[in-house]
Order: sequence, then structure tokens, then C-alpha cells
Amino acid sequence: MPRILDGIAIASAIKQEVAGEVKSLAEKGIRPGLAAVLVGHVPASEIYVRSKVQTCADLGLYSDLITPPDTVTTEELLDLVHKLNARDDIDGILIQLPLPAQVDAKLLLDAIAPEKDVDGFHPVNAGRLQAGRPALAPCTPAGVIEILKRSDVPIVGQNAVIVGRSDIVGKPAAMLLLHQNATVTICHSKTRDLPAVTRQADILVAAIGRPGFITPEMVKPGATIIDVGINRITSRDDFDRFFAGNEKREATFAKRGSTIVGDVHPKAFEIASAYTPVPGGVGPLTIAMLMANTVRAAKMRRGL
Ligand code: NDP
Repeated sequence: MPRILDGIAIASAIKQEVAGEVKSLAEKGIRPGLAAVLVGHVPASEIYVRSKVQTCADLGLYSDLITPPDTVTTEELLDLVHKLNARDDIDGILIQLPLPAQVDAKLLLDAIAPEKDVDGFHPVNAGRLQAGRPALAPCTPAGVIEILKRSDVPIVGQNAVIVGRSDIVGKPAAMLLLHQNATVTICHSKTRDLPAVTRQADILVAAIGRPGFITPEMVKPGATIIDVGINRITSRDDFDRFFAGNEKREATFAKRGSTIVGDVHPKAFEIASAYTPVPGGVGPLTIAMLMANTVRAAKMRRGL
């Protein structure tokens, strides 16, 4: 039976550590603060941001939720970011994506002071990460490394194959695994004979955005699979393709009319030695790492 890498338990351990750090910073009169900018009313974004703000409260961080309307302009948001950059009570600035079409998201993300860029998306932090200098690393890939390390999955010298090359997940995950001395291959939509490449993976990271894309024949028996994907499926056909006979899922699907599947077909997990489930794998780490990054930013900004 493959081992299930429990993201909820790992995230909870990290959050406890963060709460401990927040407590010892409080003794020095420091309270790390996160500004969360939530534009308009995208339901998924509202859920994510509320959960981030709630986690700040749970762990003792200060948070400021700012909710501009979806008619906001790039200039107005730039003005807001400049003000947040200058505020001493704010250590981390998070701008929840996606932004409305009229907003120049890149311009905005580049305006965040790199030392407050707790999402790790600023080119300065991407460059620092690549150069192996202390940096605020993007939360989801940083969470992938935490899962592997805290589950004692060997990384040094292992073949790590990452499917997906986004700036948010694939590329930084590759860089972090390289720094951990894995032998790293990055795949994308133009990769030739993808299954032949993924079958070389001791650690297979799927960050594609396509439900159940990684099938059993793409996996080396005994590999560790990290499934970053989060895809909501609503059709009965899709449900049957991934979860036929799964009673627990059937109950969720019947109740909500949808369920979540990762980028890896559940059948592929069966031949792995360990895998992250969806939900309950990588997802919970993202918020935990955001909290860890905010505390780190607070310390770095004060030279601690
Ligand atoms: P992007 O859409 O930005 O990137 C997807 C990547 O997958 C691209 O590099 C693309 O290649 C590659 N790809 C697409 N189709 C194929 C194919 N047929 N064969 C090989 N590669 C392919 O997605 P993200 O990186 O933002 O997200 C990936 C997944 O992770 C999504 O499911 C997303 O929901 C999830 N996610 C989960 C998070 C969490 O907290 N757990 C956080 C962030 C994302 P190319 O570059 O050539 O187009």
C-alpha cells in the first residue's frame, strides 16, 4: 500500500511552529502583519483570502483585509501597494489573483517591495531563489519541499520530474528541488514523449491544471507523487472516469454536484510508494507557507 503524505498534518505542524515564532517575536514587541488585497467578488478568491486572514488570527499575526471594487484601476492599486510598502505594521503584501482584466497584474506584482513579497512572485525574489540567496520562495512549491522533507522522502540524487513550468509552481519547484540536490527535469506542453520522461521520476511533481492527466503508465512503480493540481469536476462522465466505485466521493458528488481531482489520475497513486492526496495534500501547505513567509519577512526586514 502506498504511503499517504498527509498535507493537513504537516501544515498543522508548520502552523504550530509559526505560532511559536510569533509568540517569541511578541516578546520583542514585534507583531508580523499581512495585508491581503482582494479585488471584487470572485467566489474562490473570497474563500482563499478569508481562510488566509483567519489563519493569521489563529496564529497571532496581524492582518489587514483590503477589498477594492472590481472597477478599480491599475493606478489606484499601484497607489495602494506603494502605501502598503511604506507601512511599518505590514510585513507581507498579498494580492489575490486573478485580477480583473483592466488591471495590469504584472505591473502591480512588480511594485510590491521584494522584502514584503510573501507570495515570492517578484522577479527579485525569483532571481534570488535561482541564485541560491535567501529569498521569499513561492508558497506552494515551498510546501512541496516541506512535505518531502518532513515525510523523510529522499531527495538528494533522486530524479525529480516536474510537469508544468509556471512561474508560480513549476519553475520555482524545480529550483527548490535542484537546491536540495535532486536531478531535475522540467516538462511542459511541448515535451516529446512525456510518459517516457515521467517514467524516469523517483519524485514526480504534477502542476499542469488538467484533471487526472498523469495516468498509471506515466509513473515508475515505487515513485513518490506530489499532486499540486486542484480541478473541480462536475460531470458524471468525469466522475466515473476518476472515482467509479469510490463511495466516499460518491456521497460528496451527490451532495455538492462536484468534487475535486488533482492532476494525477487516482489509479496512478496505486503504483506509487507515496503520494499527496487531493484534497488534503499540497493545498493546506500553501497557507501554512504564506504564514511562515510573513514571519520570515518580518524578521528579515528587522535584520533578525
Ligand atoms: P499554469 O496553467 O500556469 O501552468 C500549467 C503548466 O502545465 C504549463 O507549464 C503547461 O505547459 C503545462 N501543461 C499543460 N498541458 C500540458 C500537457 N498536455 N503536457 C505537458 N505539460 C502541460 O498552471 P499553474 O502552475 O498555476 O497550476 C498548476 C496546477 O496547480 C493547477 O491545477 C492549479 O489549480 C494548481 N495549483 C494549486 C495550488 C495549491 O495550493 N495546491 C496553488 C497553485 C496552483 P506550457 O508552459 O507549455 O503551456
